[in-house]
Amino acid sequence: MSKISIGVLGATGMVGQTILNLLSNHPWFEVTAIAASEQSAGKKYGEVMASRWNISPEIPEYVREMKISECRPGLECEMVLSALDSSVALEIEQEFAKAGYAVSSNASNHRMHPDVPLLIPEVNADHVKLIDYQRKKRGWKGFIVTDPNCSTIGLTLALKPLLDNFGLEKVIVTTMQGLSGAGYPGVPSMDIVDNLIPYIKNEEEKLESEAQKILGKLSGTSIKPAEAAVSANCNRVAVRYGHTECASVKLSEEATEDEIIKAFDNFHPLKHSGLPSAPEKPLIYLTGENRPQPKLDVNAGNGMTASIGRLRKCNILDYKFVVLSHNLIRGAAGAAILNAELLKTTGYIGK
Ligand code: NAP
Repeated sequence: MSKISIGVLGATGMVGQTILNLLSNHPWFEVTAIAASEQSAGKKYGEVMASRWNISPEIPEYVREMKISECRPGLECEMVLSALDSSVALEIEQEFAKAGYAVSSNASNHRMHPDVPLLIPEVNADHVKLIDYQRKKRGWKGFIVTDPNCSTIGLTLALKPLLDNFGLEKVIVTTMQGLSGAGYPGVPSMDIVDNLIPYIKNEEEKLESEAQKILGKLSGTSIKPAEAAVSANCNRVAVRYGHTECASVKLSEEATEDEIIKAFDNFHPLKHSGLPSAPEKPLIYLTGENRPQPKLDVNAGNGMTASIGRLRKCNILDYKFVVLSHNLIRGAAGAAILNAELLKTTGYIGK
């Protein structure tokens, strides 16, 4: 089988690096183009990144000699994975979609557009059909799909089995989000060492609206958002990788702790999908009284599994628990790749 050619926009950033890493030896995809800002364009990736490479392991060999392009259509690839800064992603991603490319984006700009799928393949794979409507409405040869905000994804994975099994009415969530979630160089060290910052611009709004769209139902050409109200408090903490979230939920039906843990454990909708990046289990429940912790659990399922723990009664709502997910993998690069894999199996790319 010939591999599908992939371009990576924003290849020099934290998410771009992670995408390049995860696509080393991917069975379906091959990186044929990389692009970033004008200041990086025209240079070899290995040279630009020699002192900027920020994740483990080393720069993948296959990309060292590749030349960085500007982010304009004309890249030799069928699909682009976009890890662009949101200050520039809106127009660039639209230009690529207009020019006929499939775009799988990590940026927030298009997520809440009514004709753009906001996907977590384990939760709402059927929303991919919005692409047909998007193309018709916008007259594009290509299309855009998006993955959620990095803290939305862990929370929403945990909420889906609750919604399906018991109904879900209210969610209150407080996040403790890792530094790599702010990109590079991110938060100045003088602001965060020995400290936390109880504010992340626009983050609470994203968490509150995106979860409802993802958990919503596709009806004709639109998504009817889930009714569960979400209230979020977002904090930046001095952890490198991983977003930890403390959530309280009000369910529609009564449930015991055992039934809820069983619902988390039994949740693996992609079990037989064959998608290469799908983890064996998207959720694992940890019984240790002090888990999950970023240091111990962030890499569960190669960074694609969200870890849950500390399920207990809530005195205000019904239950509370802690969920942790890897912001760069499950919350960004791995999510965009999993979406691309879904697009292949649903026939939107690689025909
Ligand atoms: P980052 O480290 O700041 O990287 C930003 C990338 O955008 C770099 O490759 C940069 O290229 C490129 N860029 C900036 N201005 C540009 C321009 N005018 N034209 C073309 N390219 C330009 O950010 P990141 O953390 O990787 O995040 C990338 C995107 O993913 C953002 O939209 C972010 O909100 C989203 N996201 C991030 C995370 C996370 O955990 N970090 C999670 C979910 C979603 P140069 O190096 O050449 O400047």
